[in-house]
Amino acid sequence: SEIRENLTYPIFGQAIRELAQTIADDGYEPDIILSIARGGVFVAGGLAYALDCKNIHLVNVEFYTGVGTTLEMPVMLSPVPNAIDFSNKKVLIADDVADTGKTLKLVHDFCLDHVAEVRSAVIYEKSHSLVKCEYVWKKTDEWINFPWSVEPPVVRREGQVLDA
Ligand code: 5GP
Repeated sequence: SEIRENLTYPIFGQAIRELAQTIADDGYEPDIILSIARGGVFVAGGLAYALDCKNIHLVNVEFYTGVGTTLEMPVMLSPVPNAIDFSNKKVLIADDVADTGKTLKLVHDFCLDHVAEVRSAVIYEKSHSLVKCEYVWKKTDEWINFPWSVEPPVVRREGQVLDA
């Protein structure tokens, strides 16, 4: 479909504050925020400041290859987080969106085996998601344009090299 949910950087800033407020009001105080790269890194950074959590970890998961096109299953790329770091910790998984929910489920199931408690926070959750996140800023079923990925990577311009 042509309809898109357009997240801008200013609205993202507002969304993070509101999402963090919901988590704080719920009394959840994570020891570790585990971001799912790459989109979840923005969310984790914002939540870490807003929740005053100084411990961010990162996991790389590959699933989407284009708009609506995916690999068969998401895969956790190495290095996989060290389970010892997570033992007896309260973890908050942070991602941009739970779409099919397969990515979050993969990371959530990994955590379940190793941590004291794990919850998930996302900006968006789609109604068909197979995981229901504890903390969601907004529900949508549209394809979302995120401000960090809506534009293609920059390309090098000719004649812009500065001599040292
Ligand atoms: P899932 O495993 O829940 O289907 O998708 C996980 C990842 O796919 C998200 O973290 C995100 O990077 C990407 N993704 C899923 N749906 C969307 C979408 O509507 N828009 C964009 N830009 N990325 C999406």
